[in-house]
Amino acid sequence: MLCNRRVFIQHSLVTTALSSSYACQRKQTIVSPNKKESLGIALVGLGNYASDLIAPALQLTKHAHLAGIVTGSPEKIPVWQEKYGIKDQNVYSYESMHQIADNDDIDVVYIIVPTGLHAKYAIIAANAGKHVWCEKPMALTVSQCQDIIDACANNKVKLSLGYRMIHEPNTQSLISYRDTKPFGEMTSVSAASCYSGGEPSGWRADKSLGGGAMYDMGVYAVNGIRYATGQDPIAVTSARHIIDRPALFKEVDETTEFQLKFQNGLLANGLTSVGKPDNHLRVDCESGWYQLSPMQAYHGVVGERSDGVKLDVFVPNQQAIQMDDDALAIINDTAVMCPGEMGQKDIRIIEAIFESAATGNSVSI
Ligand code: NDP
Repeated sequence: MLCNRRVFIQHSLVTTALSSSYACQRKQTIVSPNKKESLGIALVGLGNYASDLIAPALQLTKHAHLAGIVTGSPEKIPVWQEKYGIKDQNVYSYESMHQIADNDDIDVVYIIVPTGLHAKYAIIAANAGKHVWCEKPMALTVSQCQDIIDACANNKVKLSLGYRMIHEPNTQSLISYRDTKPFGEMTSVSAASCYSGGEPSGWRADKSLGGGAMYDMGVYAVNGIRYATGQDPIAVTSARHIIDRPALFKEVDETTEFQLKFQNGLLANGLTSVGKPDNHLRVDCESGWYQLSPMQAYHGVVGERSDGVKLDVFVPNQQAIQMDDDALAIINDTAVMCPGEMGQKDIRIIEAIFESAATGNSVSI
């Protein structure tokens, strides 16, 4: 399995079902002649993920570089400018970020603010005529997702979601098995995207900004079930929220369990929690099984199969692979791997999970 970030997947990811074995389709990086080799990226929201993961990864990318920042915290500006050599004219506030339209240094605007604000800033970026990268989960509602998709389409810019696992080589091996079927047909799927000991604060405790386990972490389990099966579920058959620490989780979910049903009768069990340490994606089949555990950590996503085969390609930096893949899709004008429709489908499922948990009913998707 290839894992070098200098290779990329030239693959038109079918958004309805994440179809085809793109794990097998990596090829040497090709930048079309007369195209930019590296795109200028402006980060919107200089919080933990931007500071600790994305900006450092942009020092490793070949086809993307950190060119600008958008922040509401003036005290962060000199720190970032000094650390990354960002020019004065490439520094923006949320109020001035629409002026990025006039800045040729910036090709892509990467939205890394709280989930409830993704739509607002993604639309400003698209209207500025810049390509948009947007963190997961895409937005709070299906309707907000559609607004982002429409803004990008209307402005003829590409939209990619920050689903880093889909770029990760061991995950890609697991995805390829839905076509190669090493153990026959799938009989059940299980996904858990959890971490233990999480204590919500700030926007992660605020429902209106996208707080809670299901949006923040559960989207990995939902997306994982979809990329493992290559199918979209037709119903949430059951869902429930569990609160073990009521003093901490007053308005957002701590743990959510759900079950998804597919057209062919396959069932997938999902779990997300910021209180329990379970993190895996497992597919049981007629004559064997395979799994990743952990399935969405920043480092060390590894797996195994029932026949002893290990999924253990070393990945130095997931975010660098993701951003190089997404930059190349822009440079070469090819399909992105994680389009808006993929993120919107996950939000449609998450909305159905909340409805099922609230009503106790099965909810069609
Ligand atoms: P943080 O709270 O650490 O940072 C969010 C930043 O957004 C703030 O520092 C601030 O930056 C800006 N911001 C703008 N408006 C607000 C507001 N009203 N309240 C709070 N912050 C605001 O969050 P994270 O960096 O952990 O998460 C940001 C996004 O990235 C989320 O969508 C999250 O789901 C996603 N994420 C993705 C990960 C992945 O693996 N793909 C991992 C972690 C997060 P400033 O001060 O510069 O204005």
